Amino acid sequence: MGKYRGPVCKLCRREGEKLFLKGERCFTAKCSFDRRGYPPGEHGASAQYRRRRESDYARQLRAKQKARRVYGVMDRQFRRYYDVALQRRGLTGLNLLQILESRLDNLVYKLGFAQSRSQARLLVTHGHFNVNGRRTDVPSMLLTIGDQISVREGSRNRTYFKNLRSLLEDHSVPNWLSLDAKNLSGSILRFPERIEVEGNLNEQLIVEYYSRR
Ligand code: SF4
Repeated sequence: MGKYRGPVCKLCRREGEKLFLKGERCFTAKCSFDRRGYPPGEHGASAQYRRRRESDYARQLRAKQKARRVYGVMDRQFRRYYDVALQRRGLTGLNLLQILESRLDNLVYKLGFAQSRSQARLLVTHGHFNVNGRRTDVPSMLLTIGDQISVREGSRNRTYFKNLRSLLEDHSVPNWLSLDAKNLSGSILRFPERIEVEGNLNEQLIVEYYSRR
């Protein structure tokens, strides 16, 4: 599957808010959005550009792009997630958010094993995790209630994971997850409620975006 390889901070500036895609750096003075909080490009800083009124379609598109960027998902896969969400019972928007939240890379990030989703993706592709006791290197793998993620035996002696153990003691995870910091493992207790999904996403606009096509 394709992968976005351009400048990550540009994505925050394009969406007009901090998407926290770079871990610790996002909380320092080095944050590009804090220094240049206007859209990228030649006319990004001009008042005329910023005053432009957005159409409904533009708002729907931006909502979809923002969610895609927060979770690091390419367009085609995002569309597939929407199709799956549509087929599930319940609210399509909430189903979509729950699918995104149940990706392995997101869970590794939420459990505190990585500082950002992109770092989580890297750790997963390098084969540092087991899911239900079996090695996996697929960041997009969708997990379900009861599934367990753990750092692999062979990776635990690496400096990164050795240091992580003490950091995780103070790490709080969302209520729908459970973390065993000592054993470097965690599991899904249930899917998140809408209020538990962070990132100020507008799933209704995303549903509208796909419904009109
Ligand atoms: Fe976005 Fe983080 Fe870059 Fe700031 S440092 S612009 S929050 S990715």
